[in-house]
Amino acid sequence: MITAALPYANGLKHIGHLAGAYLPADIYVRYLKSQKRDVVFVCGSDEHGTAIPIQAMKEGTTAQAIIDKYHPIIEQNFKDLSIEFDIYHRTSAPIHHETAQEFFTALNNDGELEVKESEQYYDEETKTFLADRFIKGTCPNCGFDSAYGDQCEKCGKSLSPDELINPVSTLSGQKPVKKATKHWYLPLNKHEEWLREWILKEHKDDWRANVVGQCKSWIDGGLQPRAVTRDLDWGIKVPVADAEGKVLYVWFDAPIGYVSATKQWAIDNDKDWKPYWYDKDTSLVHFIGKDNIVFHAIIFPIMLKLHGNIVPSNVPSNEFMNLEGDKMSTSRGWSIEMDDYINDWIKKENGGVQFADALRYYLTQIAPETKDSEFTWKGFQDAVNSELVSIFGNFVNRTWVLMHKLTNGKVSKLHDELLDEADKKLIDDIQKSKVKIEDLLEGYNFREALFEVIDLSRKGNKYMQEKQPWIVAKQLTENPETQKQIDNCLHLCLQLTANLAILINPFLPNTAKKMLYMMKVVDKMLDWENAGKIKLLSVGYSLREPQLLFRKVEDAEIAEQLEKLKVKSQKPKVETTNTATVANQPANLKSEIVYDDFAKMDFRVGTITSAEKVEKADKLLKLQVDLGFEHRTIVSGIAMHFKPEEIVGKQVTVVANLAPRKMRGIESQGMILMAEDKSGKLHFINPEGKIDEGSAVS
Ligand SMILES: [Zn+2]
Repeated sequence: MITAALPYANGLKHIGHLAGAYLPADIYVRYLKSQKRDVVFVCGSDEHGTAIPIQAMKEGTTAQAIIDKYHPIIEQNFKDLSIEFDIYHRTSAPIHHETAQEFFTALNNDGELEVKESEQYYDEETKTFLADRFIKGTCPNCGFDSAYGDQCEKCGKSLSPDELINPVSTLSGQKPVKKATKHWYLPLNKHEEWLREWILKEHKDDWRANVVGQCKSWIDGGLQPRAVTRDLDWGIKVPVADAEGKVLYVWFDAPIGYVSATKQWAIDNDKDWKPYWYDKDTSLVHFIGKDNIVFHAIIFPIMLKLHGNIVPSNVPSNEFMNLEGDKMSTSRGWSIEMDDYINDWIKKENGGVQFADALRYYLTQIAPETKDSEFTWKGFQDAVNSELVSIFGNFVNRTWVLMHKLTNGKVSKLHDELLDEADKKLIDDIQKSKVKIEDLLEGYNFREALFEVIDLSRKGNKYMQEKQPWIVAKQLTENPETQKQIDNCLHLCLQLTANLAILINPFLPNTAKKMLYMMKVVDKMLDWENAGKIKLLSVGYSLREPQLLFRKVEDAEIAEQLEKLKVKSQKPKVETTNTATVANQPANLKSEIVYDDFAKMDFRVGTITSAEKVEKADKLLKLQVDLGFEHRTIVSGIAMHFKPEEIVGKQVTVVANLAPRKMRGIESQGMILMAEDKSGKLHFINPEGKIDEGSAVS
């Protein structure tokens, strides 16, 4: 039973999130599945908590609209990066509400929860108790006047609403009052003893040191009862009679989302969900980021144990991944959203899926498994160019080219009697690598496991360099017997390639698939049990022409990304949660430019003369635009907004001197200007009445 932390459906997720939980979980699951083990991999959107209504206020919409907007985007982003969940569920689903309520009821009926009354801030105008995030005031630490009830965003200090000076409600702008309210608490303190035994003794060595360390400091610090309910109108209703206006606290309901997701998966696949959460032989593994450790290693296990479920076998948690020398942060614009990466690298060209693998490669190579790590675009370029292209890709390509040149595109014979030391060493390396990689994966050491795979391809290159079959081939006319040496070399290189496909598959599944195609073999060959064998491809079998597995990343592409990051982080961010203020602000204004910057751009009026959909690209339309002095082909991302037939004849404003760019194999020779209204709908920018094509706009 494998879970990956449920992302909040309150905005786009960045590649630091991807590296923290989802990618390592996906690698692990692909490995387990290649071993034919019975495994379910669940994830989904966390759609409760104050983060959702707060985002709704920022966007001037409802909480429901926010989750309905972000859930499908995040789900699709994961798919585009080949993260393959068995189910990507949502906590707004009725089955989850029922499951979470049943959990609460069971614990409450068993007397495992405590009810306590306390004084909390209340907004008399809106008649609501205020969650921490709905209270603002002056930070007692640094004097910043817009600190939140749980944290000051200026100095970073964690706060409680009581510490704020001059607190105001962000809902009404009024000063809140204190009012008594009742809440249910989970007494973590009662569970200290078994937690100490279970985490600090039993799992002292097999859990990561950062996880054990964080748990130890929590337990040593003395565990406190934690409220499991909140006064809020967005969330799962507390299922008891006298709990009007109360919902389950999000950290109580969210992890139960793993259970409800499993239930939904079981319904969809005609399976029984119970063994995955009750059977003592089941291994439950939670992949999380380090900000989630306490919930998954202490609080949720207490809930599971009280509810009669199994507790996790492991909680692999990563540290943080920084970006170009600073902490990744979506709100400060210092991040690379999965969505942006997908649009810039994967969707931009045919075969762009190799860049899903390229990102998976680099993020695993720098995985923050034991300490914080750092993503740099230069590092990404180096990883792709000097490892994927120059080592792994190069070995496979050389093998294929030589095989087509020297052994008629077929798997050559292995002449056992001629095997020399180098051959035997290569066979030995293949077998040893399999065992080593398996051990590393079983121990959640993904970074090192990937290193071993690349190292094996490096050994392949070295072997090839030693054998030099292209030199040996020059003696063929004098001594036909030398063909046997060539046969042996290429036979072994091909068997190594087949092994590399199996071993790389959990990490780079699209690459493995491409290799299968070149080898003309079926998916079954990727079964883990085949790794380490050197009879995977049969003698005489003819193989396809080589395909390049990876292309190089150009300096210009890296420069473009760095520039993009710079621009994004300079945009002023809307930080307030008050709708009225948001509406009055010129949101997300770009940084100032001088007239010369503007004057460089050549805008012209054109008329759309034809429009058609671009195959396999939902968002793109291919347009022909008449600019008077010439006709242009322009690929525009507006297919979700306009039908091709309804825009033919429309006049538009074109950026006429933009460098041409290939999209889906079509050269786009310009860009159409569009305005996006508050609801996200697009509108053309066109002259009032019809005017001559080619008219300049300035
Ligand atoms: Zn502060």
